Amino acid sequence: MIDHIAEKIREADLVLIGLGEELDVFNSCKTDLPSYTANEWGESSWMLPFADKVIVDELAEEKRQCYVDLAACLGNKNYFIVTLCQDGMIHTGSLKEERIVEPCGGYEKLQCSKACSADLYELPENLMGQVKAFLKKDSQIPVPKEPLCPKCGSSLVFNSVNASCYVEEGYLEKWMDYKKWLQGTVNKKVCLLELGVGMKYPSVIRWPFEKIVFFNQKAELFRVHTRLYQMSEEIKGRGQGIKQSPEEFLKELSNAF
Ligand SMILES: [Zn+2]
Repeated sequence: MIDHIAEKIREADLVLIGLGEELDVFNSCKTDLPSYTANEWGESSWMLPFADKVIVDELAEEKRQCYVDLAACLGNKNYFIVTLCQDGMIHTGSLKEERIVEPCGGYEKLQCSKACSADLYELPENLMGQVKAFLKKDSQIPVPKEPLCPKCGSSLVFNSVNASCYVEEGYLEKWMDYKKWLQGTVNKKVCLLELGVGMKYPSVIRWPFEKIVFFNQKAELFRVHTRLYQMSEEIKGRGQGIKQSPEEFLKELSNAF
């Protein structure tokens, strides 16, 4: 099976990759995160998402290999990657930045919590170090101050789908590039690979991927997931569902290149 998929990737004119929740450090490790409540943290509760980032950063190292494996499979192919992951690990490998879109945002940039403008902000330089020290109860390091919007004074939060007013400008330009790239897939041999994509945001990857395969007779979809690997009736015969963890699958697939 793995050799068959590797062959399909080699033969394809274009390769479209969808990465989902199963690969996201934040989702897969959520149960391991400390169960703090906003109450216990009192005035410092703004820090909770930043504390999450500390933990995500520590756990993320393990996921790095997936992206090394993925890059090995894609080589110099003409590809595009849509990812629902928010852990930012996709940027650690050698994948082409201009071919990655992250519609859910993540922990890279900050935005105004009230979305008073579409501006995105870098994390203040010492903030993560201070949050880490705070978590370790290290009193030598100053207590972190909540970052505030320079325009309206509201809190700054991570530019992700978790924000109550998500500033989507963070990914829209890349999304337009993706749409343009998709136009070029018409009548081409397209290999679609869906890795760990569940039902959290089906309209971003799962459904559109099925639609592409439905309309393009030369397209083929391989759907890898530990539970939700089933293929819809309409596209049976042009692809396959594979019950496997995306990490394991990528490891095996990269060995075929
Ligand atoms: Zn603001």
